Amino acid sequence: MIPASFDYVAPPTLPEAVAELVKHGQEAKVLAGGHSLIPLMKLRLSTPSFLVDLGRISNLNYIREEDGHIAIGALTSHHDIEFSDLLKQKLSLLTSAATQIGDPQVRNRGTIGGAAAHADPFGDFPACLLALDAEFKLVGPTGERSVAAKDFFIDTFTSALEPNEILREIRIATPPPGSRATYLKFSRRSQDWAIVAVAAQVRVTGHTFVRRRNGRPKAPIPRRT
Ligand SMILES: Cc1cc2nc3c(=O)[nH]c(=O)nc-3n(C[C@H](O)[C@H](O)[C@H](O)COP(=O)(O)OP(=O)(O)OC[C@H]3O[C@@H](n4cnc5c(N)ncnc54)[C@H](O)[C@@H]3O)c2cc1C
Repeated sequence: MIPASFDYVAPPTLPEAVAELVKHGQEAKVLAGGHSLIPLMKLRLSTPSFLVDLGRISNLNYIREEDGHIAIGALTSHHDIEFSDLLKQKLSLLTSAATQIGDPQVRNRGTIGGAAAHADPFGDFPACLLALDAEFKLVGPTGERSVAAKDFFIDTFTSALEPNEILREIRIATPPPGSRATYLKFSRRSQDWAIVAVAAQVRVTGHTFVRRRNGRPKAPIPRRT
């Protein structure tokens, strides 16, 4: 399928990208990895007449720890999340989910910002970002605002992003020592979207000893919060 015709711009900075969105209003759409938007355009389920490609903006691709938080730039690919040593160590929920997204081609092109903005309930990252109480930094014509994950994901394919706003960064509080995480995904075929998935982030704070009938203590059961 061939998408409807559209104009295209790839501005080099975030303010210029926001200005393009303001100029073209509802007709414009942001393009990141294109692995959700382009298929929708090919099926003509989305017909923007103007695309603002973020691909030339250099400072939106990073994973770093600062002030007790882990900050992830919106253009960070699923692949970079999957292989980040920092995330493997401190936010394994995200690396574990990233390994289960599509195939290597999808993981090389798709971005965490695009996955969040797309707000697909079958997507792997939205559930993780909710479980992690992530914070979303949105940039628009009047400046920047922060939105908590519980307020960001509004409904199926609907986020708190205004049409002239761009998701710049996702921030997650570094989990305290003793934290554990897992992402479990059930799908009918490998590399497919989830039919059901569970994202869990817990903190082990102490131990409870359970006594067996024979009086001997059983292995300690970690208490979770
Ligand atoms: C074959 C295939 C298999 C897939 N399998 C899975 C899977 O198993 N699990 C899974 O979770 N996903 C899967 N995906 C989706 C993939 O993860 C997408 O890459 C992701 O959902 C969207 O990211 P993107 O960067 O490609 O965004 P795009 O397609 O470029 O954009 C998606 C939407 O978000 C908006 N947008 C993008 N970035 C921003 C931003 N920074 N600020 C504001 N708005 C923005 C766009 O305007 C558009 O509406 C699959 C995709 C394909 C093609």
